[in-house]
Amino acid sequence: MNEREKIYEGKAKILYKGTEKSTAIQYFKDHATAFNNLKKSTIEGKGIFNNKISEHIFIKLNQIGIKTHFIKSLNEREQLIHMVEIIPLEFIVRNIATGSLTKRLGIIDGTVLSKPLLEYSYKNDELGDPLVAREHIAEFNWASSAELDLINNQCLKINNFMQTMFKNVGIKLVDFKLEFGRINIDGKKEILLADEISPDTCRFWDVVSEKKLDKDRFRKDLGNLIQAYQEVAERLGITIEK
Ligand code: 5GP
Repeated sequence: MNEREKIYEGKAKILYKGTEKSTAIQYFKDHATAFNNLKKSTIEGKGIFNNKISEHIFIKLNQIGIKTHFIKSLNEREQLIHMVEIIPLEFIVRNIATGSLTKRLGIIDGTVLSKPLLEYSYKNDELGDPLVAREHIAEFNWASSAELDLINNQCLKINNFMQTMFKNVGIKLVDFKLEFGRINIDGKKEILLADEISPDTCRFWDVVSEKKLDKDRFRKDLGNLIQAYQEVAERLGITIEK
C-alpha cells in the first residue's frame, strides 16, 4: 500500500490526508467491535459493504438537500470526503425500542414508538458514550442551540427518507446513529452529515421475519454477518465489484 499520512484511526475506519487540504480519504476496515471495544473481531469484506452502502445512502441524501461530507467514491473501501470538525455528539434516532433504550428504561423490546425518538450521546469511548441532555450540550459548548435545531431537523428528515427507502425493500429501519461536523465554505460555516450510515450504525429488521440484518448479528453472536450486509446491499440494488 502506498505511504499516506494518517490523520486518525478509529475502530472501523481510518482517515488519511486527502489530495487537497480541506479533504480526507475515509478507509473502511474489516474490524468489528462492540460493547465499547470489549468484543473485537475481523470480518472479511465488512468494510467493502459498509463503504458501498454508506456511499449509496449519502448520495441519495444529498439529492434531497442534506449536505454531507461525501465528495466521491475512490475504490471499494475508500471515499473522498470534506474534512470536518466533528461535533462530539452521537445523534441516535429510534423508531422501534430495542438495544440500550430497552435496557435503560425496561421498555419491551420491539415496542413501536409513537414518533421518532432522538437521543444525544457524548462521543467519548473512555466514558462509554454516555447519554446527555440538551442542557449538557449547551453548558459544555459541544454545539450551539442553532446548530442543534438544524441538526435535529436534519435527523428527522433523514429518518423519514430512510424509513421509506428501506420499507420499499422490505426492511424496517429500527434505529440508527448519525454524526455531524462543521466546515468553512467560502468563509461561511456549514454543518455537514459526516461519518457513515451502514449496517454497522443502523438496526435493520426484515419486515416479515424480523431477521436482524445489521451489526447485532456480531453483538449477539447470531452469525452470518456478511450474508446479512450483502442482503441489505442487494436489496438496495448496490452492486459490489469483486
Ligand atoms: P444503542 O444505543 O441501542 O446501543 O444503539 C442505537 C443505534 O445507534 C444502533 O443502531 C447502533 O448501531 C447505533 N450506535 C450507537 N452508538 C454507536 C457507536 O458507538 N457505534 C456504532 N457503530 N453504532 C452506534
